[in-house]
Amino acid sequence: MDNWINLYRASHTLEAHALKGALEVEGVAVRLNGDGLSGALGELPVDLLQVTLLVRAEDRSKAGRVIERYQQRQGNGWLCGQCGEENGAIFEVCWCCHHDPHDN
Ligand SMILES: [Zn+2]
Repeated sequence: MDNWINLYRASHTLEAHALKGALEVEGVAVRLNGDGLSGALGELPVDLLQVTLLVRAEDRSKAGRVIERYQQRQGNGWLCGQCGEENGAIFEVCWCCHHDPHDN
């Protein structure tokens, strides 16, 4: 049976489509909720529309990992593997201990 769950709320349509592509590459079926409104609303900039990504319940953990990787790459900060400190996306290396996450 199809049991769709909310996976992630993208801050804009472009992010939603980027994530959808990344998930589909991993074999996860994705539905976008909120997408397509841009045409109807006309005036509203597409970038400002929030889009919720839905996946099947059985894909949840797999999809979660894809989202995690995406966030580490794109922008919502990351956790240092060495000291556990949270870093903003702009930091290439940990601001706290200077651990380089790309150098595992
Ligand atoms: Zn650190």
